[in-house]
Amino acid sequence: MIPFNKPYIIGNELSYITDAVQCGKISGNGKYTKLCQEFFENAYGFKKCLLTTSCTDALEMAAILLNIVPGDEIIMPAFTFVSTANAFILRGAKIVFVDSKDSNPNIDETKIEALITEKTKAIVVVHYAGIPCNMDYIMNIANTNNLYVIEDAAQAIDSFYNGKALGGIGHMGTYSFHETKNIQCGEGGMLMINDEKFKERAEIIWEKGTNRAAFFRGEIDKYGWVDIGSSFLPSELNAAFLFAQLENLEKIQSKRKQIWNAYYVGLQLLEENGHLQFFNLEEHVSNGHMFYMVCKNLEERKQLIQHLKQHNVHAVFHYQSLHLSNYFADEHDGRTLGNVEKYSNQLVRLPLYYDLTIEEVEKIIKDINAFYEV
Ligand SMILES: *Cc1c(COP(=O)(O)O)cnc(C)c1O
Repeated sequence: MIPFNKPYIIGNELSYITDAVQCGKISGNGKYTKLCQEFFENAYGFKKCLLTTSCTDALEMAAILLNIVPGDEIIMPAFTFVSTANAFILRGAKIVFVDSKDSNPNIDETKIEALITEKTKAIVVVHYAGIPCNMDYIMNIANTNNLYVIEDAAQAIDSFYNGKALGGIGHMGTYSFHETKNIQCGEGGMLMINDEKFKERAEIIWEKGTNRAAFFRGEIDKYGWVDIGSSFLPSELNAAFLFAQLENLEKIQSKRKQIWNAYYVGLQLLEENGHLQFFNLEEHVSNGHMFYMVCKNLEERKQLIQHLKQHNVHAVFHYQSLHLSNYFADEHDGRTLGNVEKYSNQLVRLPLYYDLTIEEVEKIIKDINAFYEV
């Protein structure tokens, strides 16, 4: 069976973990955490990065930093992972879900402005599959209405919008290093702080509400409880694994993009014949996070996934429309979000991981083309 995803080791992951143990520090905010954070600050020009135990945690930190209180409204896409919403629900916020675009699953930016009220505090965008949202348009709405913008860039590492790394454009951004993402360490994430005013407090919230980070830098002579916070920082074992992957970022990205391109070229006929809607990407470039297709309807998707399973290929679908979920349906204001339902029922994701061979990709392409008889 060709799995949908497979974690992999590419370089010094295991020797760095050993090194962390031998250095005598495996709790958080040590040598490897700093190396990872500096890597991102240097590579993408992010102002301040804090490694977290997940993207979910980074989103929760963002919600705390924005001082979200019960009744505040947050505008976000309904086609996303639950964490995007949960982070704000935990602070008591009311979530206002927006439809996706026709052309791709990202938030339909033209629908945002009509949903802004006196209570709106922030817009959260998700760069689905690393496809950039229309950030100029969204930042403009936010600035006009005095709102914060948080970028859930969990899938968007090494993806750019007008030359700027995604996650570095809104007031804050978040990455995920979950084992299904391009760069991984099992469970892991990062908060990017792009607005200086959140820098100091972010570090305190990260360190369980204490000013321990400033203490370690020698800026104060004792540390204590100064704010709310939680245990958001990952162990050095995770950071050591992650740093080895970061050292190989170019190699990983080049392989993932090669796979993405092979799918794109090999399945081109299906798009031309109107069987499927592919990525609608200018210049057809991708950060190699995900290759998805959009089937004609739910039944066709079921049959395609079944067909691939019979040929030993594991293809998957997601997300449940959050506005129709068991947890949220009663809270939703009743607006129909047609494109969200379309992607929820019709989108398929194909296997894409570092160790996937081009021969395996060619086999999958052949299986799909055979299904559609092209
Ligand atoms: C993966 C993902 C998350 C969650 O990331 P974790 O690191 O597993 O918490 C959040 N949002 C999106 C869009 C994701 O794809």
